[in-house]
Parts: sequence; structure tokens; C-alpha cells
Amino acid sequence: MIVPTITTLGIQCSKCGELQFRAFSLFTFSHFTKESYYCACGALLLTISYIDKRTYSIEYPCIYCGESHFLLTKASELWSENILPLLCSNQELPIGYFGPKPLVVNHCQDIKKKFVQFVCQLVNDEDKESEFDIFFVVYAVMEKLSRMVDKGKLGCRCGNKNLAVEILPDRIELSCECCDALGIIHINNKSILYTLDNIGCIYLEENMTLFINDTLENWHLQ
Ligand SMILES: [Zn+2]
Ligand SMILES: [Zn+2]
Ligand SMILES: [Zn+2]
Repeated sequence: MIVPTITTLGIQCSKCGELQFRAFSLFTFSHFTKESYYCACGALLLTISYIDKRTYSIEYPCIYCGESHFLLTKASELWSENILPLLCSNQELPIGYFGPKPLVVNHCQDIKKKFVQFVCQLVNDEDKESEFDIFFVVYAVMEKLSRMVDKGKLGCRCGNKNLAVEILPDRIELSCECCDALGIIHINNKSILYTLDNIGCIYLEENMTLFINDTLENWHLQ
């Protein structure tokens, strides 16, 4: 049996949605106990911890859940002629793969496709040809909004915490049914995702419209 000494990781970044590839050598790997890898956008892709001679723990943030998943695996599965999938355990969807480069590159073609199919079902959009980037931003904004709801960080200054959410082709609208407050999140740009992460909360102003743009300086009321 030939044991490959190089393995390739292909993974979808949970922050920007882009596929990233890294190569790992079996030899350099035995020198550290824990190492993290980052996307070109700066977001964490994956952390590998060396547990013992044969066992590794892999932690990766998930695009679908907004949280991290863990996988315990063996060196023989990471450096193998077969492919090892990194899945979202909640949605059973692939986030990345370890394995020989040609196999990984091949399998990664499906990651974006499956993501678009998944989001199409959620937003009831029949147009399966829609751009990946648009779907990615819609999904990621919705995911961030639901996390704000969980933490009580989404609401209206009138006291209402239950805002209605509507997905439109170019924006997501938040509306308060207790007053006439409206929040318009522009989704034409991925940088809105970084802005939402930085502010962490949205409060609408009573009876006013809040425009939420990709840079904080552009936020304004009407
Ligand atoms: Zn990224
Ligand atoms: Zn997940
Ligand atoms: Zn209100």
C-alpha cells in the first residue's frame, strides 16, 4: 500500500463563501500540536489539533449553522487515497474535503452547487441559475439576523422585538408591526456581512426607515 505524504484540503469559507485550497505534508504536520488556517478574506477556515500519534481533531466553522463542527479523525484518513468529507452535521451538506488533489478539486465543484440548491429551497426561489454570490449574501444575512434574535439583539426602539423579515431581490426588509419602522439591508455586496458582524445588533428607530449599508458611515435614517 502506498501512503500519500501530501493531502489537499478544499473548503468553503464560512465568511465569504469562496473555496480555498491548502496542501499539507505528513512530515511538517508531526511538528506541531495545534494549527489554524485562514481564508484570503481573513476568516478562520479550520483548526487541526494533534491529539496523539494517530488521532487528529478538526474544528471548522460552518456556513450553514454559523457555528463550528468537530471531527475526530485518523492520520490514515487524512493522508489517504480516498476522500474525507467535512460535513455540516445538521444539514448533511459538504463544507470541504481532504484527500488527493484531483479528487478534492472535483468534489469541491459540488459545494457551491449544493449551497445554491439549499438556499433555493429556503427562499422558495425557482430560479436555480441565480448567482452564487447573491444567494450566499442572502443566506448569511438571514443567518446573522437569526443569531441576533436568539441573543435579543434585534428589535425596534418602540419596544417590539418581533420584526417581520422579507427577502426581496436586492434587499432584505425588516419591519415593525407595532409602529411604522422599517430597516432596509442592502445585499448587493458581501461586505455587508462584515459590517453586521461588527455591529452585532440592529434596532430600528420608531416610525422611521433605517438604511443599513455595507459601511457604517452610510447608515442613515429617513
Ligand atoms: Zn473567506
Ligand atoms: Zn453546520
Ligand atoms: Zn416599532
